[in-house]
Amino acid sequence: MVKVRFARCDICPLVDRPLVHGQKGRRKNLVLIGEAPGYEEVEGGVPFIGKAGVKLAEILDVLNCNKNDLYISNSCLCHPVNEDGENRAPTQEEVGCCNERLLKSLEALKPTLVVALGMTAYYALTGNKIDKFSPVVGKVAKTKNGFSMLPTYHPAAGLRNRAYLPLMKRDLELALSIVEGVVNVN
Ligand code: SF4
Repeated sequence: MVKVRFARCDICPLVDRPLVHGQKGRRKNLVLIGEAPGYEEVEGGVPFIGKAGVKLAEILDVLNCNKNDLYISNSCLCHPVNEDGENRAPTQEEVGCCNERLLKSLEALKPTLVVALGMTAYYALTGNKIDKFSPVVGKVAKTKNGFSMLPTYHPAAGLRNRAYLPLMKRDLELALSIVEGVVNVN
């Protein structure tokens, strides 16, 4: 069964889980990629509308950017849960099954910059397995398929550790400067 073009749902452990498509905002130059949908996203049918999404919107508002204007999606489109039915991060296997779909979506949009929200998105976009996220945060790199990418903390991590929130704001401000041509990364 293939739920989305270019996805390997036939071998994906999440094949029977609900799917949430990306938010297609009017701006295509800046794309945000997270982990996977949670219960609130499944209910609303849109990524990043739970507490983490509200925090993301708050930070973007301060930077004069409306979250609804952006293209926002996830490393995996389907909702992963643990044995107790709680939200969990997707595994590397699940990320791998959904990866060509993610990379093809970037190739269709051709964004100036992709922001990787958290280590799962960083892995999905680069293929690099890292033990510590902090050394790569805020440093522009390239996705597997050659797009400029800026890793920053996932807003859910910012809610758990508020010390990450100013770093997220710093990185999103840099991201907006890059797509507006104020800062050149090429
Ligand atoms: S997460 Fe991706 S690959 Fe897995 S079932 Fe959902 S759409 Fe298919």
